[in-house]
Amino acid sequence: MVKRIILHWSAGRYFPTIFEKNYYHYLIDVEGKIYNGKFTPEDNNSCTDGKYAAHTGGGNTGSIGVCMCGMYGYKSPEKCGDFPISAIQFEACMKFTAELCKKYNLPVSPDTVLTHYEFGQANPKSTSAGKIDITYIPPYPWVCKNDAGSFIRSKVRWYKEKI
Ligand SMILES: [Zn+2]
Repeated sequence: MVKRIILHWSAGRYFPTIFEKNYYHYLIDVEGKIYNGKFTPEDNNSCTDGKYAAHTGGGNTGSIGVCMCGMYGYKSPEKCGDFPISAIQFEACMKFTAELCKKYNLPVSPDTVLTHYEFGQANPKSTSAGKIDITYIPPYPWVCKNDAGSFIRSKVRWYKEKI
């Protein structure tokens, strides 16, 4: 069953590629448009058949992968590259994640809505350790690295209340 949503950035450009669609269930472009990936969230209920979206090493089973397209060339908040996540894109992602929480009856908690970075922090022996998505939110540059996940959950909660 679907147990959580893990949020990513693609480290690519602003629009999803066919290659990227293999790895995430949903992808959001710079204008806030949402695309379906190759696999469905339900495909990740079992990850033993090779037919699933491999978005989070060590944590794919039961996990929906939602990805904001961008952040290619990101090095640090000061060197953000030419594809920073846009405000419209970020809000679209928060709203869509809230809709997924409703659909799959998930509360908004650190166990059920989290970033790839947070998953890596909690699972230091997995291949997700050291992932930096999402440690910086370009439209909200004052949000610190370790606050990004809780900031995202606050946003998702706000949208969930409005649905
Ligand atoms: Zn990721």
